[in-house]
Formats: sequence, structure tokens, C-alpha cells
Amino acid sequence: MTETILRLLTRLSEAGDDAILPGELAAPFFGPVFDRLLAKRVLVEQAPLADWDVCDACECGLPCRSIRKAGDGYRAECPLDRRQDIDLTEDDLRVFRIGGDALASVIGAAAGFRAAPKRAAANFWRLGDTPTGRAVFLSLEPAAMTGDGIIVSLRQAAQGSDVTILAPQLPEEIVRRHQDAGFHLVETLAVLIPASDGLGVAIDVAALAPVPLAPVLRVRRATAEVQWDGRSVILSRQIFPVFERLLEKAMSRDQVASGAHVEGTTAREAKDLIRELRDAFKAAGFTDAESKALIATVRNRGYRLGVQAAEIVADG
Ligand SMILES: [Zn+2]
Repeated sequence: MTETILRLLTRLSEAGDDAILPGELAAPFFGPVFDRLLAKRVLVEQAPLADWDVCDACECGLPCRSIRKAGDGYRAECPLDRRQDIDLTEDDLRVFRIGGDALASVIGAAAGFRAAPKRAAANFWRLGDTPTGRAVFLSLEPAAMTGDGIIVSLRQAAQGSDVTILAPQLPEEIVRRHQDAGFHLVETLAVLIPASDGLGVAIDVAALAPVPLAPVLRVRRATAEVQWDGRSVILSRQIFPVFERLLEKAMSRDQVASGAHVEGTTAREAKDLIRELRDAFKAAGFTDAESKALIATVRNRGYRLGVQAAEIVADG
């Protein structure tokens, strides 16, 4: 995906209140959009750098090296080894602080929300409501998602509406805590797509609602039949045991099946088995997104059924 300045700033903003954009990363983006971000105070220029990190594994013992004027540019000199000197341009010395409130405002505008976002908690904003009445929140910083009272605060702020949270990538444990609270999490960078107008990004509001799931998943072991969302799939004898292993996990406390658990005694890799399982659902008329919502990947951990135990009816 083409890099855009707003995607870069969204990533850097994960550092929270200290988030900055160094001049060397900013330089490729200098131009009219960059100037607009300065005018909106999404970026606020700071005093230029006066010193630079010491070189890796340097034995000079200095906390940092000073930057001196050298010809047309600047140089950070190593007192021990001239080969380690770094030549710098004026742009390299520029530093921009990232303004969280202003960034939230332009991300909200990219999703088509007209009003300014309202701060719901520290580094947490309510961007607005979708046409279907879903309250959309934005968290720029992972730490803002982990606080003790955040779920209660969001519920209060949502005043009974369904909740979608645009968030950075988070540890599975935190994702689960928000999902258990009934919140729909969307990774901001997954929906912040490059656009040719405005500030160069847009968010499709349709991407902010969960793929609707039918309330009950029915499984008939005798016929290897799975009914879901009004459709029925008969799985092959080879792939049904893989589905059963996911099912067994879905009914247990942990709910996530590791790759090894999915593989069972087969000689095949979990990712191939999962692909084949999803393909069987697609062949029965489910979309790719639906099959991935039902047979979900849990990053770094394995796979799980996208259905709660209470919504599963399995015979035998
Ligand atoms: Zn050095």
C-alpha cells in the first residue's frame, strides 16, 4: 500500500503524548498536504535538534554528540572515529510534534464525520455515529485501551449505542477484553486507505460495522453438516475433523486452537487445513470475509470460531 503522511502519523501516534515526526521521515512528504497538516496543528514544528545520538557501540562515553555547521549542511561528529560522522541536512534537524486531538479530527473527517471529535478518555475520542447508529471511537495509543476503567467509560459515552473502536494493533488479551464487552475493534491502519483528494486518506464507513453473524451455528456430526447464517455446508470426511477441533475449543474456556491442535494427527500444515475449510464455506456461497469471520485467525496464537459457545448447537 502506498505510504501516506496520515498513515505514517497514525503509526507514530502510538507513542502517545510524546509522538513526534522526525524531519528525515517528514521530508518526502513536504508539500501542500503537509502544509495543511501544519495549519491544522496535526503537526507542530519544534525547535531544531542541537544534538544527535552517539554512534552504536561507541566508547566515547558522551550522552549525545553535538551537531556542527559543516559547509552547506551539518555534521554530527564522533570524537573517536571520523568515519562514524554523520552528514545532516537542515531538514534532518527539523522535528514535528504530532497533535493527538487534531489527528483524531482529520481521521474523523476521513470517515465522513462532520462534527469535531469529543474526547471520551485520555487519548480516546468519539469520532461520531455511523448512519446505522453505531458509535465510533478512536484510540491512537495502545496504552489508552488497557486502563481499568476504559470499558465502563466507553459504555457510558456510547449511551446504549453499539460501539466500534478504531485502534492500533493490540495484544490478543486486550482485544478479547473489548470483544467480551461487546465492542467491535477495527485496526485503524487496515481501513485508512489512500485517497486522491483532501488529506490523502479515506475510511469506508461500511468497514466500521462487524460482518453480521447469524445467532446460531448448528453442527450435525453424523452428516458432517454445518448450518450457519441460513446456509448449510456438508464438509468432507477429511476436513470435518479440523472443524471439530475448532468446535471443541470454541466450547472450552480458551477458545483458541493452536496450529498444532488444528493439525492433529494429519501430516498437513494448519494454514492449509484452514484454507481448505474456508474454501468449503466459500463453495457453499459464503463470502471470503464471512468465511474468515467464522474461521478466524488469531495472530501469533492460532485459530478460533467466530461464534460464542452460547451460540453453538452441536449434536452427538
Ligand atoms: Zn562514536
